[in-house]
Amino acid sequence: MSAPDQEYRLPNGGPSIALLPKVSLHDHLDGGVRPETLVELADEVGLALPAADAPSLAAWIEARCDSGSLVSYLEPFDLTVGVMQTESGLRRIAHEFVLDLAADGVIHGEIRWAPEQHTRSGLSIDQAVEAVQAGLDDGVADLAERGHVITIGQILSALRTEGRSLEIAELALRHRERGVVAFDLAGAENGFPAAAHSEAFDLLAREFFPVTVHAGEADGLDSIKGALLDGRALRLGHGVRLAEDVSVLERDGDNTTVGLGPVASWVRDREVALELSPSSNLQTGAIAQWGTELYDHPFDVLYQLGFRVTVNTDNRLMSGTSLSRELALLAQAFDYDLADLERFQLSAAASAFLPLEDRDILADRIVDGFERA
Ligand SMILES: [Zn+2]
Repeated sequence: MSAPDQEYRLPNGGPSIALLPKVSLHDHLDGGVRPETLVELADEVGLALPAADAPSLAAWIEARCDSGSLVSYLEPFDLTVGVMQTESGLRRIAHEFVLDLAADGVIHGEIRWAPEQHTRSGLSIDQAVEAVQAGLDDGVADLAERGHVITIGQILSALRTEGRSLEIAELALRHRERGVVAFDLAGAENGFPAAAHSEAFDLLAREFFPVTVHAGEADGLDSIKGALLDGRALRLGHGVRLAEDVSVLERDGDNTTVGLGPVASWVRDREVALELSPSSNLQTGAIAQWGTELYDHPFDVLYQLGFRVTVNTDNRLMSGTSLSRELALLAQAFDYDLADLERFQLSAAASAFLPLEDRDILADRIVDGFERA
């Protein structure tokens, strides 16, 4: 099993990828709980686990998530969400999340989660957001004491299958000056169109509040259109099935001429970031039409065509991964070098839900870090 601090390098060696400055845009709070913490908190709240100790629990979770079924992939979330119902549970998990990102070399992280899933023990959605923010602040403060500068934003997800998106949009707006940087739509994509949440999206647009939408993962181009048109999404959560709008027109030796449909053209030309998550995309079947190996992922085609691709973990616990590991896997599959890895980080920095001057600072830190590597 892979630990976040394990050493990952490019196929031809070079610096440890964990030491390079990185930006994480698509990282679920309930998908990045430490196995040890899950065991301890489950014991406190009396939640039964399928394994008694952290290593066997982590192995069980990875096996569920690697079984090729979305239903199995989602099962371990019942466990993590189950221990994230109290102020102390949320605060601890958010705190540790920041420390784990920093240990992997992340200098800016945007952490998403769905407050509506965390009220079973009586917390209000506002209290839940405050508990998570307190934990994030704890992490940032701990790291500052050690001289490690990291910035963190919360992204609040509403669930496609529920009717609470307007409430979550209002929640995000209430906390926009206190750590919440964007709104996200998540959950079962197929059959639950973004248009059903237009009241929330209209409010967010009127308030000029940034939106990202999970789209093009379990459903195709229509869902991506919905994210862009109804959601006014500035980024796409995965968006991998946008590749359905890219067609090969002609192959002549090494030269391939491709055509972009209108959706793909819009996303590329307007530089709408794709929050791609290689391991997760394989595990949830998002790239099934192209194959079953990382090499089959449209990531490289999209990158070579000039799309703003970013690399993400989605769920570090479920996929047993880290941002460094995802980058190492991509480098192996597509023969990327340090310049490619730097490009992905600069793209993520450019698409972060931060003011322009803060994005420029991130870009400078990335260039410096890669230069010194
Ligand atoms: Zn996601």
